[in-house]
Amino acid sequence: MVFWKRKRDSESTSSPSPDENVDASRSDEAADQEAKSSWWRRALNRTNEWLHTDIRDLWKSEGQLVDDEFLSELYAILVKTDMGNSMATKIKDSIHSQYRGRRIEMSDTLRIVREEIGEALKSKQAPLSFAESGPTVILVVGVNGSGKTTSIAKLAHRLTRGGNRVLLGAGDTFRAAAVEQLTIWSQRIGCEIVKGDPGVDPGTVAYRAVQKAVSESYDVCILDTAGRLQTQNNLMQELEKIKRVISKQIPDAPHEVLLVLDATAGQNAISQAKGFSQAAGCTGIVLAKLDGSAKGGVIVPIAEQFGLPVKFVGLGEKLDDLADFQPDEFVKALFD
Ligand code: GDP
Ligand code: MG
Repeated sequence: MVFWKRKRDSESTSSPSPDENVDASRSDEAADQEAKSSWWRRALNRTNEWLHTDIRDLWKSEGQLVDDEFLSELYAILVKTDMGNSMATKIKDSIHSQYRGRRIEMSDTLRIVREEIGEALKSKQAPLSFAESGPTVILVVGVNGSGKTTSIAKLAHRLTRGGNRVLLGAGDTFRAAAVEQLTIWSQRIGCEIVKGDPGVDPGTVAYRAVQKAVSESYDVCILDTAGRLQTQNNLMQELEKIKRVISKQIPDAPHEVLLVLDATAGQNAISQAKGFSQAAGCTGIVLAKLDGSAKGGVIVPIAEQFGLPVKFVGLGEKLDDLADFQPDEFVKALFD
């Protein structure tokens, strides 16, 4: 597990340098690595099965002629893998332009699939953004039950262990239970929390949290929000209001707007991302509950179609169950 610390004014804005990272012992790291790759394998179970079994079935003889029939069969298999129509089209077009009228081996087909996916994911990859100076504000959005509050707790835990002073804002004021849930997490993590009375305006909580973060020199302020449906305009407007309240105090904040998606929701997660990324100006995705999903391939269309990097993946309900999303590991697990 790698911990990272908020960048200071003199430090670079890119990913953490090795001396910022406090690595666990080597054996812990190896065990961690092993656990991670087995998570990936499980999460990509169905995606893998489709990709490998069905593509293999396409090769009845050595080398397949790349004609319309082959391309449409291949396309149908790719679409089934949860990678989305857009990625399937990209791969089909790439094979078409390189092999049209010639024979293609299965290994070359899989190589192209791998290259296209790797490229699409890597081009979007970006580390968590931190403020140049003053507190970093992270706003967390997503529909009810997607895993927002749990992901906030995991992120706060990780940042706290990396040496940051973290302040939480319980902005999901519609449900008393949501405030309570975040309060319990804050006690476990050992960080401060700002909350309002039940039913108080979420903008007020955001205002007070950011104000406290500034005046008391916190490193990071993470704000929880109510579950929102993209069809509910009033909720989207409220989210915009929260952003205005934040940027009035810190002009370039929020520095991140993380959209939490439930990996078990499969393709539904994509339409959720559409509404939210537009209305909330999302900067990155946290894909929660990847441990309970076999359709991890959904990361590809999410990252691809919305131009949003997947910053973290949720691998369980405990504080340590948050991993950085690494495109290389993902592609490796997909083709292992
Ligand atoms: P919110 O309504 O978006 O704030 O969602 P919560 O954080 O309350 O999470 C909803 C449910 O999903 C809770 O029961 C969480 O424990 C569970 N959950 C959240 N993230 C994960 C994850 O990564 N893996 C698993 N297995 N469960 C998760
Ligand atoms: Mg919540």
